[in-house]
Parts: sequence; structure tokens; C-alpha cells
Amino acid sequence: MIFRRSRFIGFVAAGCVCFLLSSCAKTKRIDLNILYIENPKFQGLSDEDISMITTFIKKDMRNFFNINVQNTTVDKVHIEDYAKNENKSLGALASYKVTQIANVHYEKLKFIKDNVEWGGMFKNKSIMGIAQEIINKNTEVLKMLGLEDGKPDKNNEYSKYSIRSWLERLERINKYDLIIYNGVLIDDCAAVVHTLVRGLIAFGVAERNNSKYKGTGMVATLPVMSEDLPFSKWKGEGLSIFEKRKVISIIACHELGHLLFDYDDIYNHDNCVMNPEKGYDFQSSLSTKKCNKSHPKLGYFTEAVFKGDMCLFQ
Ligand SMILES: [Zn+2]
Ligand SMILES: [Zn+2]
Repeated sequence: MIFRRSRFIGFVAAGCVCFLLSSCAKTKRIDLNILYIENPKFQGLSDEDISMITTFIKKDMRNFFNINVQNTTVDKVHIEDYAKNENKSLGALASYKVTQIANVHYEKLKFIKDNVEWGGMFKNKSIMGIAQEIINKNTEVLKMLGLEDGKPDKNNEYSKYSIRSWLERLERINKYDLIIYNGVLIDDCAAVVHTLVRGLIAFGVAERNNSKYKGTGMVATLPVMSEDLPFSKWKGEGLSIFEKRKVISIIACHELGHLLFDYDDIYNHDNCVMNPEKGYDFQSSLSTKKCNKSHPKLGYFTEAVFKGDMCLFQ
């Protein structure tokens, strides 16, 4: 997912097509510096997990985007060490109210209600009912994390899950292109359709910075890997370890699609990597394949490496 900040929205000059074509041809290969951040509160990813996820990312980047990921490096760090120089507290957790969700995100909730594909999980509910369900889901995740909505954030625990905090961290990165985090991301920032239906949970995020591709993508693996409540009940049919690693790769590629191509999320392309998971339906993610449709741009990653559409590489 990606959060727009209007002050950053730029444009690409219309006369740059020739330049873009030639620069794309030269830059079909990328190298990925990956940082795995481990939160000991949850089961860590094994070396084999990381190795297989990296292998899948290479394969998927080629399949989805025709990009050769040549070299990959993986560093590992403990969340406490990674965040040890942070001295700020978020204060209290974001406090969500049903009426607030229903009012602020009315159009998105209406979209959810009116679209069978999205609304199935909120069948026959009113806008207020959907808002209540979203908060119930969010509360279950917070409870699993030992946190309580609206309460003070003792020991900065919430900052390990808050997207606001992670966006600030990603902005400071200048060495890594992809973060793999074994935790969870709580959308306390923009709230988009696909995070709302999951109870304000994001599976990944991308942000601009001074890394070599002018940004860093991030995937949070807990919702995919967890066999505990509440994620286990929302996911339905279990995934094999092979499938879990594959889904994590697909989410990572989605974030790299934002970063490298400046692609926006799109909901009406079937089996497209830029189409976010509907709820916790990871089984459907496994059907992701190359999409030849035209993709709308975000206008956010204005220094994206590949500014053209996927068709430029065919
Ligand atoms: Zn996205
Ligand atoms: Zn597509």
C-alpha cells in the first residue's frame, strides 16, 4: 500500500518518452539490499524462510515486471537494536471511534458495501455496522499485541506496529531497498479500502528516501505466517509453508511495484500484483500473474527507476 502526501505529488514531463524508453532498456536489472527486522515477540523467519522468500522475489520480479534481480544481500537486526536511537514516543494509541470511521471513510465504506467482492465479509451490514466490524477486527489485533486502543503507549511498544512510525523509519533509510519485518503494521495513517476491510491492517508499505532506488519497500509477515488468533480465523484455509513464503514474495513485489514503477494500487485487475489482497484471502494471491493492462501512476515516486508501463519490457 502507499500513502499519498499531496505536497509531494509531482509530474513527469510529457516530452520524456524517448529518454524513458532508453533508460528502461539500460536499467532492467536491479540489485536488492534487504534488511530482515525481527521482533522476538513473534516467531522469527528462519534462514530457510528468508532464502526461499528471496528466491521467490527474484522469480516473481521477472514474471510480473520483467526485471532481473541480480544481486541480493540480506542483513538481520533485532527490532530493539534497530529502533534503539529513537527517542520519541507516540504518546497514546490512535483511538478509533465507530462514528469517526463511518464519517471520515464514508465513501470507502460505501465502496466496500456496494462491491460484492469486498463486501462479502461484511454481508448485510450498514455503513455503521461495517465501521463497527472494522474496529472489532482492529481491537482483536491490538489485544493480541497486548495493546489497548486509546491507552498510553508504554515502552513505545505501539511504535513497533504503527505505520506512522514505520514511514518515519523508512524515510531515514539510505541503504536498504526492501525491509522484511516479522511483525504487523497497523494503519494509523491514511486508511484505504484494503486496510479498512482487514481491520486497519497493512501487509506492506513503501516510502521515499535516499536509497539507491529513491525509496524502500516493506513487507510485514505476521498476518501471513501466524497460526494464532485472530489471523488464523480470518485466513480460513491454511497455507503451506511454501505458499506462505510465496505470498510474502508477492506482497514484497507489490511494494517494489510502487517504488520502481510508481504504480498505484488497482482493484479491478484480476490476478494483478498491484491489486491488494481482499481481506486475508491469501489463497487468491497465489493466482497472481503477469498483468498486461495499463497501470495508473501514483505521482509519488517521481524518481522511480522504471517510469514506463510493464508493456515497455515485452
Ligand atoms: Zn499498495
Ligand atoms: Zn494490472
